[in-house]
Amino acid sequence: MTHAVQHELENQIEGEVRFDRVSRALYSTDASVYQIEPLGVVVPRSRDDVVRTVQIAKRHGCSITARGGGTSQAGQAIGSGLQLDTSKYLNHILELNVAERWARVEPGIVLDELNLALRPHGLRFAPDISTASRATIGGMIANNASGARSILYGKTIDHVLELDLVLADGSVERLGALQPDQLAAACAGEQDRFWQMHDRLWENPQKLAVPELKAHAQALGLDATAFASCLDSSRHAGLVERDMQAGQAYGVSGTPAFFVNGRPLIGAQPFEAFQQVIDDELARAAVTRAASK
Ligand SMILES: Cc1cc2nc3c(=O)[nH]c(=O)nc-3n(C[C@H](O)[C@H](O)[C@H](O)COP(=O)(O)OP(=O)(O)OC[C@H]3O[C@@H](n4cnc5c(N)ncnc54)[C@H](O)[C@@H]3O)c2cc1C
Repeated sequence: MTHAVQHELENQIEGEVRFDRVSRALYSTDASVYQIEPLGVVVPRSRDDVVRTVQIAKRHGCSITARGGGTSQAGQAIGSGLQLDTSKYLNHILELNVAERWARVEPGIVLDELNLALRPHGLRFAPDISTASRATIGGMIANNASGARSILYGKTIDHVLELDLVLADGSVERLGALQPDQLAAACAGEQDRFWQMHDRLWENPQKLAVPELKAHAQALGLDATAFASCLDSSRHAGLVERDMQAGQAYGVSGTPAFFVNGRPLIGAQPFEAFQQVIDDELARAAVTRAASK
């Protein structure tokens, strides 16, 4: 049976759209012990293909798991929705600036292949992970991959200057470091709202029921795992420094939970939706407490 999402992908994607049983079986594992059969596989040929895939998946309420070399060991590269494999076609160096020591690359380029091209210029991408012959830069960035010499040479995050990324709503953003004045301008208005919500969470941690908040979050289409991470980090790990810029990612284990460049990242939902979840839950907790007195 042709799935509606498959039909739309086939009509709009230049790359490969594979919903056959063999492809789904091939993409059902990574280097972890887990196995999840995806709905289908998209192998994009271009950046536009990636954007269109995200837009189509959004329309159909279908999740996406990006995939590079599939060498991650905790099941990060598998999922039940669409697999988006960047390693076959999106694997080029787009620009190399030897004088300034940077390269602009597509996400599916394998680390060893990048370093092979950089070698004649006396350069290399520093993190030296042991899966360098398979791992892609996209997978390294998403995992913040490190390697045996990371204490000396840094982890992936220390060597990423800019990122073009597609958010869950299909919009494209360029992320990069901002000067303090640029950051202030980008966050104008948002920063106050961020800290208001942050303070409410912090002042009321005992009133928040995480399972119920997760259920609310899911009903709103938010990423409930990232959402719970925010709550857990504010409850247990202590809050981020008060003077942390709102433009920085806020989460646990380096996972961006929400807010980059003053924009919410949880399922790319508007800030209001997230705030509403908190408000609803605090109101519910207040009613429950009053009733139990
Ligand atoms: C034997 C072995 C040794 C390892 N040694 C190390 C080591 O020394 N150091 C280390 O840090 N890690 C190590 N790893 C883990 C793994 O190799 C690295 O995390 C690697 O960077 C993953 O790259 P990948 O291309 O295979 O990513 P994948 O496994 O394909 O994906 C990893 C994550 O990145 C996401 N992703 C992939 N591409 C994109 C994209 N374009 N946009 C957004 N998200 C994307 C995926 O959805 C997934 O969540 C090892 C793994 C194995 C099996």
